[in-house]
Order: sequence, then structure tokens, then C-alpha cells
Amino acid sequence: MRSRFKIVFIGLCMLSVIPFFYLSGEEKIDSQLWEKALKIHREAIVIDTHCDTPMVMLDRGLDIGRKSDKNDLDLIRMKEGGLDAVFFAAFVSNDLDQKKPAKKALEMIDEIYRQVEKYPGLAKMAFSPQDIRDIHGQGKRAILLGIENGGPLEGSLRLLRDFYRLGVRYITLTHNDNNDICDSSGAKTPEWNGVSPFGKEVVKEMNRLGMLIDVSHISDRAFRDVLEISGAPVFASHSNVRSICDVGRNLTDDMIRALAKKGGVIQVTFCAFFVDQEYKNKADANEKTIEPEMNIIKEKYKDNTEAYWNETIALWKKAAPPAPQIEKLIDHIDHVVKLVGVDYVGLGSDYDGAGSYPVGLENVSGFPLITYHLLKRGYSQEDIKKILGGNFLRVFEKVIRASDSNR
Ligand SMILES: [Zn+2]
Repeated sequence: MRSRFKIVFIGLCMLSVIPFFYLSGEEKIDSQLWEKALKIHREAIVIDTHCDTPMVMLDRGLDIGRKSDKNDLDLIRMKEGGLDAVFFAAFVSNDLDQKKPAKKALEMIDEIYRQVEKYPGLAKMAFSPQDIRDIHGQGKRAILLGIENGGPLEGSLRLLRDFYRLGVRYITLTHNDNNDICDSSGAKTPEWNGVSPFGKEVVKEMNRLGMLIDVSHISDRAFRDVLEISGAPVFASHSNVRSICDVGRNLTDDMIRALAKKGGVIQVTFCAFFVDQEYKNKADANEKTIEPEMNIIKEKYKDNTEAYWNETIALWKKAAPPAPQIEKLIDHIDHVVKLVGVDYVGLGSDYDGAGSYPVGLENVSGFPLITYHLLKRGYSQEDIKKILGGNFLRVFEKVIRASDSNR
């Protein structure tokens, strides 16, 4: 379907930000608006609160200092897309919860440090809002740490504190299944009817430490409990609006209202499955058709992770329905703004974890398109900067301030 979309070459003055980009459908570029968008994008601190690139670094040998065409994000394309700060999630699946989840998370964190330290001219580790601002001022990418699924805590608040000392600044309490902290939106049956007794301790200790609590993936009841227990605002690092795309890990309007009331933020994800209902329905049907082929690949490459991923991704891409237009993603932002105001929405791509994205956002270099489309919808410069990163920075700061009063 790529041929439907024009590749538009941007004038020399913009080469420093992004050499070319895709515009959707038959739409004509408004060059004045695009220039204005790039100016705003360059000035803003652009933050993405969730990507799974560490998985590709550890399991598939990605070198983030080189431009890659095999994944969604590296430091070179981050710069092209004007993305200033990103949270690298150390993702540990719930399957590992009873095995060695801490080891897996620690190995990913080690890989992140080693790679960022290899490219001091391009990027730097960041641990606070001030770090993000300073590194942005130096023209480098700020890399922050999150853990996706609290399994690596292995039921220990001591490990939680150790992860904090290592620089981890948020934890997504669980992933697609229940764990010892709380229930998941992906589980068939609840185990705790919300947050477990250990989970309650985790939330309080994260408040005390000044860590961000990520409510993406958790069940509706767990969400309600977390909001009740937490003494600080919480956030959804990569979730969308359920009334637009009906999946359990997107937030209902009531949840978005409660999150905003608490001072938190919902960071919309680019994952096509959670953006567009029509795409999701078609992709679900396709997945069933390719299941037998998937199983063959799984068996064939059980000892070769790289070949397994290459074949799986190729098969999946072959079967995938046409990607949604970027406007569908902007609809989620618009909905939140209309519901609770412009102060409670941001961006959490899920690059390297989602497989399919709206047209033009196939990788991180497409980020300025979001600014362009927000401008096109009539958002002011000030509001766009809030959405691109300002809102998240406010929440991050509040969580740290709340921790000071908890110590
Ligand atoms: Zn996720």
C-alpha cells in the first residue's frame, strides 16, 4: 500500500530534523504549516514514554548508534524525528515471572547502559526531569529506564529499591497476565480483584521513592485500587481511549477522568491494534489464519532467536491489514482533550513492541507528523508542546515532589 502515499522531500533548511517523510492518502502538504510544525517540534522537549527497543538490543543484537532498517528506533533516527527523550522499557513477560525475571531485567538494563555509554556524543542516561532538560540543551538524546511488568521485583521491596538505585524511574505493574502485584487487563480471570497486598506495598514504596507508577496493561479494578492507594499522580505509559478502540488495555472515559483528577497523564500509543477498531478486527481474523504457519516457525527456530523473529515479523507483515491513517491516532488525543482538557495527554509509541503503526509513523523518524497534524487540527503552539512532552514532565516532577513529602 506504500505506493498510495507520496514520499515528500523537504527543503534543505529542514534536513537537520528529518530528510523526508510520508504524508497520508491523497493529502497535499501545506508547506507553510509543515515549516511551522518543524519549528514547534524543534523547540519542544519531545518525550516518548514507552518503547521496547532493549528487547531488540539484547535478543537481536541491535546497535542503537547505527541507523537500522530492521527495527523501529535507534539514536540516529531519533534525532531525525526530533525525539529528545525516550523511556527504554526492560520488558519481562509474565511467562518468566516464576523463573528468573530479575536476571532478565538486569541484563537488559546492563545492555542499555553499555550501548548508551558507547555513544557519549549522541545520548546520555537521564534520571530526572532536570536531566531531560539538560541533555536536551546539549543536543543529545536522553535515555531513561522503565520496567514493563513488576515480575522482576520477585516479591521483594528490596529489589524495587535496587532497581530505583540503578536508575529505573517507572514500573508498569504487570503485562498481559496477572502477577503478584495486581491483575492484568489481558487475564481471563482476576486473581486479586485488583491490587494484591504486596502490590499495595509496592505502590506505597514507589510513592516514597519518587518512582512513576504505570497503569498501562493493568485491569480496571487494579487501576481503581492504584488510584486509591497512590499518594501521587500516576500515568499510563502507552494506552489509548477505549471508547474509540475497544480493547481491555485502553482506558474508559471514566478512567481517563479519574487519571486527570489525580493529576496524571495518558500517553497515547501508536500500536495500530489499539488505535483503530477496524484494523484490530481485521488483524485478529488474520492472526487466526496464520497461526499454523506461526507454529511451524516457532518449532523450526526454537534455538535461533534472530531467525525466529525475522521469519515471524515477515509472516506477520505479509498478513497484516492496511495500516490506519495518522488521523486515527490524533482522534485519541483529541478525545482526551475534549474530555478532560489538554493537560492530561502525551505520547508513548510502543516502538519495537507493537509491530504495526499508523501510516508515516512506521518508525521514530516520523514523529514530526504528529506535530503537523495537531497544528492542522487547530492546536496552539503552547498546547502542542504540552502534548509532546510538557504534560509528562509535569507529572514526573509532581511524583518526585510528592516523594519528598513522603520520606
Ligand atoms: Zn506494553
